[in-house]
Amino acid sequence: MYLNENLKKLSQNYLFREITDRVDNFKTDNPGKKIINLGVGDYTLPLCPTVVDSMKKAVDEQSKKETFKGYGPEEGYLFLREKISDYYKTKSVNISADEIFISDGANSDIGNVLDLFSSDNTVIIPDPVYPAYVDANIIDGRKIIYVNANKYNSFLPDVPNKKFESSIIYICSPNNPTGATYDFIKLKRWVDYALETESVIVFDAAYEAFIKDTNLPSTIFSIPGAKRCAIEICSFSKIAGFTGIRCGYTVICKDLEFSGTVLNKIYKRRLVARFNGVSYITQVGASAVFTENGMKEIKKNLDYYKQNAYLLSSALKQKGIFYTGADNSPYVWFQCPYSMKSWEFFDYLLNNFEIVGTPGVGFGKNGEGFFRLSSFGTKEETELAAEKILKL
Ligand code: PLP
Repeated sequence: MYLNENLKKLSQNYLFREITDRVDNFKTDNPGKKIINLGVGDYTLPLCPTVVDSMKKAVDEQSKKETFKGYGPEEGYLFLREKISDYYKTKSVNISADEIFISDGANSDIGNVLDLFSSDNTVIIPDPVYPAYVDANIIDGRKIIYVNANKYNSFLPDVPNKKFESSIIYICSPNNPTGATYDFIKLKRWVDYALETESVIVFDAAYEAFIKDTNLPSTIFSIPGAKRCAIEICSFSKIAGFTGIRCGYTVICKDLEFSGTVLNKIYKRRLVARFNGVSYITQVGASAVFTENGMKEIKKNLDYYKQNAYLLSSALKQKGIFYTGADNSPYVWFQCPYSMKSWEFFDYLLNNFEIVGTPGVGFGKNGEGFFRLSSFGTKEETELAAEKILKL
């Protein structure tokens, strides 16, 4: 048997295991001390009532012969794709329902869309980065070129000087881990680069709902020409807490074609071969997100996290510490004080202030010396953490 040897090239993901080990050791040495966990990348508030009610009704439908539903359309039910299409209209972008593919979450589609491309294409990935982009491409055996995100470009890397033809470019905005968000002009430079080099941008908009500044693009399709060079991946995880329910969507416009092949068409064919769709109950729940009540309730949850992010960033600002994110993202990314390295600062913060965060170096070499705090904790704990940061 010939195995996919690329799987052995995946780095062992020690980051979260190492965090857990260090926290466990701290607990053993300091029994009774309460830890503030701001390392979480997961939604912590429960599903909003409108979503829950709609899902309960969908369960009832599944329990009766007359309303039972078996396999649904592989690309997702039209009722949900139409709602997403309307959501794009609120962003002044026209995406038709047949350009939308419902998925079981963004993480799967980060790898799934790669089936469209040969493993001979080069991949461009920022460093630091959400690790799934790197892993998915290592599995396929693609050559990865990293572009540097750092303090000097406010963690929003510009296009490379060299023109890498036919490359797959991953962009995440608002970014995990840095929280940095591309503005229209900087994102347009990537779209122009992709069009010029016949490349494709895989745009991860998982955190789009956190954008407060209405001048910032919350979809790549607000940029002229993007429909001809970009795929957008989105998720219900961070807008509505579907991390455990699992639902997302990917947009491939019919304008996106290479060498006369329309990608929307072949992606649909690939989907039929590999996927039998997301559950009806899940899609009914996702659809409720876009109702008037659903949106109201979701906004309340998002405001809760946004306020947490504000508290953390205000404390860093008062201390004069360089940071990105927070304003349009649930993450605050900052330079470790006293020129500490990421893990050194992790221990310092844990041992002196009982705060747990995520060492930036875990997201790539340019993350060394930086640190991520998340706003997905409770208000009370975040307030306490912000007070403690002021004592740094
Ligand atoms: N993209 C980014 C940037 C993320 O941070 C995450 C999860 O943390 C995902 C995608 C995964 O989203 P999903 O839960 O829809 O798989």
